[in-house]
Amino acid sequence: MEAAPPEEAVRYLSELLQIQTTYPPGNELQAAEYLAAILRAEGFEPLVLESTPGRGQVVARLKGDGSQPPLLLFSHTDVVPAEPEKWTHPPFSGAIQDGYIWGRGALDMKSIVIMHLMVMLSLKRTGTPLARDIIFAATADEERAGFEGMGWLVDHHPDLIRAEYALSEFGGFPLNLGGRQVFLCQTGEKGYITLRMRARGRPGHGAIPHDNNAIACLAQCLALLEQAGLPGHVTPTARAFIETVATVLPGVAGSLQNLLEGSPPSLTELRRLLGSNDLAELLNAMLRNTASPTYLHSDSGAVNVVPSLAEAILDGRILPGFDRASLLAELHAVLGSLAEGVEYEPIYEGIPLEFSLDTLLMRTIRTTLRRYLPTAALAPYLLPGSTDAKHVARLGTICYGFAPIQLNPNEHFLRLVHGHDERIAITSLLWGTQLLTEIVTDFCRAG
Ligand SMILES: [Zn+2]
Repeated sequence: MEAAPPEEAVRYLSELLQIQTTYPPGNELQAAEYLAAILRAEGFEPLVLESTPGRGQVVARLKGDGSQPPLLLFSHTDVVPAEPEKWTHPPFSGAIQDGYIWGRGALDMKSIVIMHLMVMLSLKRTGTPLARDIIFAATADEERAGFEGMGWLVDHHPDLIRAEYALSEFGGFPLNLGGRQVFLCQTGEKGYITLRMRARGRPGHGAIPHDNNAIACLAQCLALLEQAGLPGHVTPTARAFIETVATVLPGVAGSLQNLLEGSPPSLTELRRLLGSNDLAELLNAMLRNTASPTYLHSDSGAVNVVPSLAEAILDGRILPGFDRASLLAELHAVLGSLAEGVEYEPIYEGIPLEFSLDTLLMRTIRTTLRRYLPTAALAPYLLPGSTDAKHVARLGTICYGFAPIQLNPNEHFLRLVHGHDERIAITSLLWGTQLLTEIVTDFCRAG
């Protein structure tokens, strides 16, 4: 296949990184117009749409013969904030140095925006006959749950992005396990249930203690949750992940097999079993509902007054197949008699997703990756976090996270994302673009 000149993708990514798209105000309209101009110059007819002033999305379509339903490539152009003083190169400089392109969004996810863009340009330039339309959508507001970006697009312009399958972020990076590269493909994601947890107690004078102190009650509950954790459950996605890991880590294959048959072990046991903290923490999050305290507040207004109320925020994450009621039941079971002393108020909720692991697109990803890297493995996994796939899935679309990149042995994808010195190697951007282009071509080609 005729590849686009490599310097083109590098220049586009550097320029996109220079457009400041941190909220507030977001300003993704400027990024949408930048991308639209490139698409327009190539003969596309991109649409730029604003959900609210300045919050822009761009959608473009490459027509197939209509014999198969479309494939959607979706991405977001907003980025999380950065602390410039902690960076080697200013986070909005798009610096090209030492073989890397540096900037906030270099991984999450402006590099993927550019990979998607290059897929569109390559297929248009080569005139490859397509059975499926390929839709490009780069939207705003993902880092704040996407309601002014992809959520708005799904609500107001569903026909622009309706597709059978979609590819987006949070897969395609490798874990180095047992000397082999295991590329993760996101085939599901946890749901979120943010809860305000309240303990009430008896107010009074701090000089005369009693045994109904709201702060002490809440602290006891949080400590118990931390110690005990919630019970484990093996979803089909986690099972497939564990089975793949077992093939590359034969030393622990037996223990992993036991794990699938018994009840999943605690984080401490997973650490001991796998000998890898990062892998243990990721697997632990895939195997249970979780509720992390992220905020704690109680204030009587005076140092000698016992408050009547103490509050915590629990960042709850639920596995596919679970809901708010089942999370609360698990919290109650762990807290035992302490559960009577607390109440919960839900704040935000998002559903969990889990897609089939046996689809034509999944097989295409696997086959193409094997052609590129015969020794690499592909592991489906459940993202503990949340992406715009939650919105896209409302249209019945099967969403996978796969945007291939390569990392140096000392680089850890999940730590670089949202971290200081976010960057992508130029070789990785070009390699990923090429691989993704082949996946999309194989999947959408006519005949
Ligand atoms: Zn992202």
